[in-house]
Amino acid sequence: MANLARILEDSTAKYPERTAVVFGDTRLSYAQLNGAANQVANLLVSRGIQPGDKVAMSIPNLPYFTIVYFGILKAGATVVPLNILLTAREIAYHLDDSDSKAYFAFEGAPGVPIGDNAWEGFNEVEGVTDFFLIKLDSAAPAPLEGPEYYAPVVGEQPPTFDTVERDDDDTAVILYTSGTTGQPKGAELRHRNMYDNAALGESTFQADETNPDTYLAVLPLFHIFGQTVIQNGCLLYGGTMVMLPRFEAKPAIDLLLKEKVTFFAGVPTMYWGLLGALDETVDVAQIASNLRVAAAGGAALPADIHRQFQEKFGVTILEGYGLSETSPVASFSPWGKPPVVGSIGKPVKGVEMKLIDNDWNEIPDDPEAIGEIAIKGHGIMKGYYNRPAATEEAIHGEWFRTGDLARKDADGYYFIVDRSKDMIIRGGYNVYPRELEEVLMTHPAVSLVAVIGVPHESHGEEIKAVVVKAPGEEITEDELIAWGKEQFAAYKYPRIVEFRDELPMTSTGKILKRELS
Ligand code: AMP
Repeated sequence: MANLARILEDSTAKYPERTAVVFGDTRLSYAQLNGAANQVANLLVSRGIQPGDKVAMSIPNLPYFTIVYFGILKAGATVVPLNILLTAREIAYHLDDSDSKAYFAFEGAPGVPIGDNAWEGFNEVEGVTDFFLIKLDSAAPAPLEGPEYYAPVVGEQPPTFDTVERDDDDTAVILYTSGTTGQPKGAELRHRNMYDNAALGESTFQADETNPDTYLAVLPLFHIFGQTVIQNGCLLYGGTMVMLPRFEAKPAIDLLLKEKVTFFAGVPTMYWGLLGALDETVDVAQIASNLRVAAAGGAALPADIHRQFQEKFGVTILEGYGLSETSPVASFSPWGKPPVVGSIGKPVKGVEMKLIDNDWNEIPDDPEAIGEIAIKGHGIMKGYYNRPAATEEAIHGEWFRTGDLARKDADGYYFIVDRSKDMIIRGGYNVYPRELEEVLMTHPAVSLVAVIGVPHESHGEEIKAVVVKAPGEEITEDELIAWGKEQFAAYKYPRIVEFRDELPMTSTGKILKRELS
């Protein structure tokens, strides 16, 4: 049985005194972390949460993320982790779409009003009945309304809880993602999808619970990459997670040194930031002597970053590839082999990959041929929550089509060529043009709009809106950017606006985006 909640429980049984999580001066042992999660599970059950109910959370990389995540799982409920930067309108959409019954949110930090947005979003949705606000200085999550709930997170005798049994095929997590098909969709990931992906550590980078790694948790844990590769992988192998709520190069470097980090995983822009912040005051040799594994994924890793990192640290970045829908890791640079720069490696243990055409036919083996990656194996989601048509489009038998175009060389290494989807990845965050277009179109001065990604030195891509004004309406670029800023989370509003008289179209009326960039 692969109940995801057991990841924490089993390691707690074996290594109760080991440090599981570090945040600033706070260090929680496995027993303390597990006890705190038990407390959340008790809270949820006392509030009537049943097995299979959905419980959403908006929490940055803090020990609370892990405590609440595992508390929800222990109660037999499904976790719905939300991006912490969503606006109230976006939060309401996600709570409603996922049928969440309860919602945990962190109070926020200067400039990141998670708690306020969460409270506003929560109040717009009828079905979600309990709201728990987590304050950094309080001992436990407190409901804003309803019965008082206070208990120390870390007590002398941690609370106990009998984890609710779940089947391998039950949904453990619903993660929101989308292609170009409009609003975000919830990928339903089963217990076994999530468990088996976390358990790839042994074959992909020789994770060993008798000699555990220390992970820097700076990838957002609400996203599948951080959730599986950092949090769940770390806890499964009895490691230590050092939490950093947002990526900034200097604090990240300080933690790499101070906590003797052995495992770093990041999106390419984080590597870019780290390399840019190395000056003569940084003890690179010391960091390098601790660092055992460096992994990248989420977007294409520029060859230049790969080379520079290798030069400075003497550590090869292992590149992985996957999607929310595949839990996520599907391919990885094979351990112990010379790096193939620019490649996403080969399918991992228990996963098969092939290149297909539009009709799902496998394209013949030819190093020059480009096809869409299809994936089969333990990570493939159950489907998109409440969206049978979208699920049917994406899953054919046991195969999942990714929307990513790639080549495969004669040695079986895959190389991503392009995304066939129009998704933009800005600074490691996914931005879905259609979602932005739909909202921008509601502005009275906007007649037509296409949102595209344009290359950007540090963010990878920047978001640009190409706009046709409504007849007789006047608006400036700055005014539209300012309006967008109010509508969308900070990472996704368009920073560049260009006005045009018309947009290039196909004969079937689709905007020809590739002619816009
Ligand atoms: P998400 O569902 O947020 O994990 O986004 C998945 C998408 O990220 C994939 O469909 C790819 O387009 C992109 N992606 C992930 N890893 C890589 C990689 N190593 N190289 C290029 N693109 C990647």
